[in-house]
Amino acid sequence: MSVLTDLARSLRPSLGMLVDDAEATRLSAAIEQLLREHDDGKDVDTRLAELFSSVPEIQRYVTNALDDPLNPGKTPYEPLAGDGAGSSLQRYECRYGPHATWFRSSLSQEVPLCPEHQIPLRLVPGR
Ligand SMILES: [Zn+2]
Repeated sequence: MSVLTDLARSLRPSLGMLVDDAEATRLSAAIEQLLREHDDGKDVDTRLAELFSSVPEIQRYVTNALDDPLNPGKTPYEPLAGDGAGSSLQRYECRYGPHATWFRSSLSQEVPLCPEHQIPLRLVPGR
């Protein structure tokens, strides 16, 4: 169980409100597949994070959910222990706001540029 698989489960019933029908069907199938792999013991966090961040509406939902102070214990801000650490993710945002969010799940991943401002996203500090 991880923050992202929890989110994926809670997100699925809301997909229809966030995106159009075709997209909801596609995302629901993708999430279902990843959750099934998760149940088989695979690490799907990276792929879930990629899936979430590929759709702006979903990314916004996820960002809000992660920011929710009423969700104790759902903190993704554990430090990375190194490659292969698996479930700990660091969140990066554009310095001008949360319009661009990206989750780093491995130290070998390079931090991307904000697509709008062309500056590197910066780490959102843990709390
Ligand atoms: Zn930006």
